[in-house]
Amino acid sequence: MPAPAYDETNIFAKILCGELPCHKVYEDDVAMAFMDVMPQADGHVLVLPKSPARNILDADPAMLGKLIARVQKIALAVKEALAADGLTILQYNEPAGGQTVFHLHFHIIPRWEDVELRPHTRAPEKAEVLEALRAKIAAAITQI
Ligand code: AMP
Repeated sequence: MPAPAYDETNIFAKILCGELPCHKVYEDDVAMAFMDVMPQADGHVLVLPKSPARNILDADPAMLGKLIARVQKIALAVKEALAADGLTILQYNEPAGGQTVFHLHFHIIPRWEDVELRPHTRAPEKAEVLEALRAKIAAAITQI
C-alpha cells in the first residue's frame, strides 16, 4: 500500500516556516536542527530537511546526500559540546516504524557510558534546560 502524501500541516512544517517556535541550533539552505522537546537524553537534537519529505522512503536522494552531511556536522558538535562518549542516531519511518511526526528527521542523541536512553516521546523537558543545551551546541557548531 502506498504511503500517504506529505502533510503540509505537520508540526515540523510549521516550525520550518516560523509558525511555531523551536530551540534552534542550526539552519542553512538545506536543513534546520533544533532541540527535541521530549529528549531521550540531554542534548537530543533533531535534524530535518527544509524541503518536504514524509520520511526516508519518499525523500529525494540528492537531498539526502546533502542532509546527511549536516547530520554529521551537528553530531560532531553535539559530541564536542556535551563531552559525550558516543552518539545514537535514529530515524523512524511510518507509524509501524515508530514515526510520530511526518516530516523526515534524524535524531542525534548524545550518549555517556552507563546512562540509559529515556523512552521515546515520553517526558517534556523544561524550556530553560533546552535553551542552555541549545546554546552550548549552537556555539560548538560554529567551530566545526
Ligand atoms: P519520530 O517521528 O518518532 O521520529 O519522533 C518525533 C520527535 O519529535 C519526538 O522525539 C518528539 O519528542 C519530537 N517532537 C515532537 N514535537 C516537537 C516539537 N514541537 N519540537 C521539538 N521536538 C518535537
